[in-house]
Amino acid sequence: MKLIILGPPGAGKGTQAALLSARLGIPTLSTGNILRAAINEGRPVGLKAKEYMDAGKLVPDDIIISVVKEVLSDEKYKDGYILDGIPRTQIQAEMLENMNVGIDAVLFLDISDSRVQKRISSRRVCLHCGATYSLSSFPPKKKGLCDVCGSDVVNRDDDKPEAVKERLIVYHAQTAPIIDYYRSRGKLVAIDGMSDVEDTTKAILKALENL
Ligand code: AMP
Repeated sequence: MKLIILGPPGAGKGTQAALLSARLGIPTLSTGNILRAAINEGRPVGLKAKEYMDAGKLVPDDIIISVVKEVLSDEKYKDGYILDGIPRTQIQAEMLENMNVGIDAVLFLDISDSRVQKRISSRRVCLHCGATYSLSSFPPKKKGLCDVCGSDVVNRDDDKPEAVKERLIVYHAQTAPIIDYYRSRGKLVAIDGMSDVEDTTKAILKALENL
């Protein structure tokens, strides 16, 4: 199965992608995690991406497209995947269509801007493996350390309030229009992203059963 999870920053894309991956046994591909790992490892693509990410802007399409093409060519993605954080622009959506990837459904997590701001203020992430936590509803078991790999769990630079405001502006201008792109292709499945994590997963699984 090939799925896209779409929604504003803080909608729960990463959390739901990880849960669905475990449940359905298909790997996730998160462009945000790939870029953060590249920054951490000091790779050139990370250095190029960092200034955009810290400012809450989108990384240019050509960088994203070459990263995604390379990663998707890995054997582990041959039977399916969950795309988290891609596409974020019309050009990226068209790139996926041109690659003939045959997306089964686009899960759109619908959530208000005010809820996004609230959620992101308590979000923490593991810079090593990308696991995501919420200080209010899903804190790491050991304070400041990742449950999965034991690395430091931090507040992302782009989760600071000013960057979040910018990311929401960018989301509405550049990413939200692709909701209609997928709706017109009959691929869009809208999910209430305001519910808690468990209810959102249940709603997604139910929607997938009805595909
Ligand atoms: P995320 O972890 O998905 O919230 O992504 C964090 C940041 O990485 C975004 O705010 C962008 O700066 C950058 N990014 C991730 N995915 C993309 C993408 N598909 N296109 C452009 N920029 C991206």
